[in-house]
Amino acid sequence: MIKTTKIARKYVMGSETIHALKSISITINKGEYVAFMGPSGSGKSTLMNIIGCLDTPSAGSYILNHQDVSDLDENELAEIRNKEIGFVFQTFNLLPRSTAMENVALPLVYAGMSKSDREERALEVLKGVGLAERATHRPNELSGGQRQRVAIARALVNNPSIILADEPTGNLDTKTSYDIMELFEQLHGQGNTIIMVTHEEDIAQYAHRVIRLRDGLIESDEVNHEVRKVE
Ligand code: ADP
Ligand code: ADP
Repeated sequence: MIKTTKIARKYVMGSETIHALKSISITINKGEYVAFMGPSGSGKSTLMNIIGCLDTPSAGSYILNHQDVSDLDENELAEIRNKEIGFVFQTFNLLPRSTAMENVALPLVYAGMSKSDREERALEVLKGVGLAERATHRPNELSGGQRQRVAIARALVNNPSIILADEPTGNLDTKTSYDIMELFEQLHGQGNTIIMVTHEEDIAQYAHRVIRLRDGLIESDEVNHEVRKVE
């Protein structure tokens, strides 16, 4: 479903050219659970931005669900993002004045669904992440782990084909991080495709495949034979 062939991304800044990605060829199939690792500056964010259709490569091709998305304009990319990608961020990115349900229902506004249908769907997804009883709470009335669950519910509400999580446990304590990894494992078990960026080795071990980047290239791409489980 995701197939990049020799993609590169360079940034030209005055007389300097930064080769953030040099040549990345990867295939990620539906239902995979992948972690991207690598030191700061290795190209993880750049690659996630391309996979998430926030950016396009300067060279090479990217096929997403049988469609070549390497060369689309901003409007076309936005349409694909809304349909195919659910984003989860380190800082949750919730609207502070909106309730959990309103935050989760937001992407459905763009899908043109009626208010009652949006609320019904948002509640269903909140239930799925174990937060049905917090539907009317605002972010400041929720713990960090609960906020991240709301953000994950928002990412799931449109039934995206891929969940992209950038350092999803970066702002959470250890115990809460494991709770979120347990939820990811559950989502993976339901057939969701999950790609996360993490610099924490123990978090990466929850994924079933670990891809390491270095200097804009793939350093290793391995099946994780000892997937960690939350006790
Ligand atoms: P990582 O996420 O692994 O830290 P990035 O993809 O953010 O790596 O960065 C890869 C390289 O590209 C770095 O050298 C970084 O400074 C550079 N870079 C990233 N984004 C930009 C940008 N918008 N403009 C210029 N350089 C950038
Ligand atoms: P992270 O790797 O934590 O996602 P960022 O993507 O924000 O962090 O930044 C990674 C690197 O890319 C940093 O070294 C940052 O300086 C550089 N970078 C990001 N955006 C830009 C930009 N617009 N211009 C120049 N450098 C950038």
